[in-house]
Amino acid sequence: MDLTFNERETAFRQELRGWLAANPPDPEPEQGGEDAHYAWRRDWQRRLYEAGWAAPHWPAEYGGRDATLTESAIYFEEMGRARVPLPANILGLLLGGPTLMVWGSGAQKERYLAPILSAEEIWCQGFSEPDAGSDLASLKTRAVRDGDEWVVTGQKVWTSGAQYSKWCMLVARTDPDVPKHKGLTYFLMDMEQDAVQVRPLRQITGEAEFNELFIEQARIPEENVVGGVGNGWKVALTTLMNERAGLGFALQVRMRQLLDDTIAIAARRGLLDDPLYADALADLHMRCEQVRLLAWKGLTDVERYGQPGPEGSLVKWLWSETNQRLTQLAAEIVGPEALSAGTSWSYELLRARGNTIEGGTTEVLKNIVAERVLGLPRLKAA
Ligand SMILES: Cc1cc2nc3c(=O)[nH]c(=O)nc-3n(C[C@H](O)[C@H](O)[C@H](O)COP(=O)(O)OP(=O)(O)OC[C@H]3O[C@@H](n4cnc5c(N)ncnc54)[C@H](O)[C@@H]3O)c2cc1C
Repeated sequence: MDLTFNERETAFRQELRGWLAANPPDPEPEQGGEDAHYAWRRDWQRRLYEAGWAAPHWPAEYGGRDATLTESAIYFEEMGRARVPLPANILGLLLGGPTLMVWGSGAQKERYLAPILSAEEIWCQGFSEPDAGSDLASLKTRAVRDGDEWVVTGQKVWTSGAQYSKWCMLVARTDPDVPKHKGLTYFLMDMEQDAVQVRPLRQITGEAEFNELFIEQARIPEENVVGGVGNGWKVALTTLMNERAGLGFALQVRMRQLLDDTIAIAARRGLLDDPLYADALADLHMRCEQVRLLAWKGLTDVERYGQPGPEGSLVKWLWSETNQRLTQLAAEIVGPEALSAGTSWSYELLRARGNTIEGGTTEVLKNIVAERVLGLPRLKAA
């Protein structure tokens, strides 16, 4: 792993850093709740789009910059460092667009990619169901062909951003008579129909980031099948492989900033001389460095072998565990402010609880590391 950047990469970082310094987002809205916050992120994405910075990792022919993997990582690092919000259509930019680029027809790319980039049409991910999260292939939502349309009935859960979305990446069962991975199809479902009801699920943070979807005979035209009928599992894997690719870099930079902020407060309070705090902060510093270096190593592997390896699971596992430890220690160091509703410290503490669930639970990631990295025997279901 060589962590020195070449001239092109350094120039890329400088250009982006210069642009971010000259074009900061508007101040975060203090009034108007989640809708105002979302509108603020949407506006920010429009500004990124107009300057050509919404998705540098996309090919230039689709409005990106042909950024290499290293440049994409630099992009997310710099976005984290500048403390700017995530673009509103993050699932479209990171998951939906790249999935269409691999599996979509020419007409689908033509129709859907540009509005993803400009945040004109927001996308959500309708994969998880009440009885199918880690074991996604057991999903029960059914799609039945009716002429040149599909009729979909079922329930999805934890659908982030569904309340703002125009399109849903929906995986549904189209053939119940074949083994479970084989009978799935990947659709683009229009959320703007009465047959799709979105009900918010309020989290421990107080916000409703995600939702339940109740789908009662929703209609999807045949042309909105992505990657062919019965091929949904493979298409869904492409979406899932993209899930952690870029965002991980922004998240680990944010975790580092949170640690630096915590250390600064500990220093102001004279806690760095207390061996218990000094030891815990040093441990977190080492963990943050491990996550950073493992993330870069993962990238080197993708560059060398063409795809992310199972080691990526280790980065997500370590990041989520470290972020939870950090926010708990920060609460002790910051004091009552971290336990008062509405403060950024309390938000970080509460939001971190979901880190070990979202994007693959820690238990499932440990199984992957055990079986595919360490080569331990496969766990047999009881
Ligand atoms: C903040 C957040 C946002 C999310 N956004 C979305 C979204 O936009 N779209 C979407 O589709 N989903 C989303 N999810 C859902 C997420 O992908 C699932 O929560 C996750 O896959 C786990 O599934 P589950 O909740 O059904 O838990 P289950 O799979 O039912 O797991 C329950 C428990 O059993 C454990 N377990 C399960 N299988 C095994 C095993 N084989 N070995 C050992 N232990 C096991 C798990 O680790 C967990 O502790 C989101 C979740 C969160 C927290």
